[in-house]
Amino acid sequence: MQGLIFDIKEFSTNDGDGVRTTVFFKGCPLRCIWCHNPEGLSPNPELYERTEGCLDCGLCRAPCAHEECRTFGRCLHVCPKNLVRPVGRYYDVDTLAARLLRQKSFFDSMGGGITLSGGEPLLQADFCEALLTRLSGQLHLAIETCGYAAHEDFVRVVSRCDLVMMDLKLMDPNTHRTYTGVGNEQILANAKWLKTSGIPHLFRTPLIPDITDTEENLRAIANFVGTDRIELLPYNTLAAAKYAAVHRTFTDRIDPEHAHPIDLSFFQNAVLRK
Ligand code: SF4
Ligand code: SF4
Repeated sequence: MQGLIFDIKEFSTNDGDGVRTTVFFKGCPLRCIWCHNPEGLSPNPELYERTEGCLDCGLCRAPCAHEECRTFGRCLHVCPKNLVRPVGRYYDVDTLAARLLRQKSFFDSMGGGITLSGGEPLLQADFCEALLTRLSGQLHLAIETCGYAAHEDFVRVVSRCDLVMMDLKLMDPNTHRTYTGVGNEQILANAKWLKTSGIPHLFRTPLIPDITDTEENLRAIANFVGTDRIELLPYNTLAAAKYAAVHRTFTDRIDPEHAHPIDLSFFQNAVLRK
């Protein structure tokens, strides 16, 4: 069994308790218009190609014999400016687990662990389950998920985690479909189960100007989460630059000038992240 991973980031302090290594799974069933990881959307390996500083030398387009370059019809090894690279590498469970376990003594002393993120890790539920089972009892295991997964996949993966961080973006199903491409019924069903599961968890809401940050939506989210922990995350304005590199178009439907003031008074246990 193999998992497709598009990044492994060490020393993260935003993806759970302590200092963490975050494993980014490639592929997501949602298409949030504000997504800050466009290179994680496709469930296949793809080319990440920046154009700023390109010398137009043509070296990357000349025929080459490298096996890994054939898929893309470009040479990935010759660019003098390092502008062309593949996104997405297949790992088997043992190789990835061995890499993550090399940091065990560091995590033990710093109080961190690993976090499965994406994209959406639950799109590769079998691989996640196998990886988590392999690491269980050795590292602190967390997952960041949008929650859009078959209930049985959701349960068998998050049950193997020490911490679940789950997005709640929009409570109205039609608005959710408009801005993420899917309804929220499955997500809310999984979130309701999580709330009563006994698994340590927190919810997260990205504050997207005039979309998720409206008082109506935040009040509805506050009612849903009750006393559970929730983090409100700032809109990432740097995401747009990455879209062109994977041949996608960033939306012009988000206007940062339309951000609503955030009133935390109707939440019982919220943190507004900077
Ligand atoms: S769920 Fe996350 S990774 Fe998927 S499209 Fe939305 S913001 Fe991007
Ligand atoms: S090798 Fe690099 S600098 Fe030359 S054309 Fe390709 S991307 Fe541009």
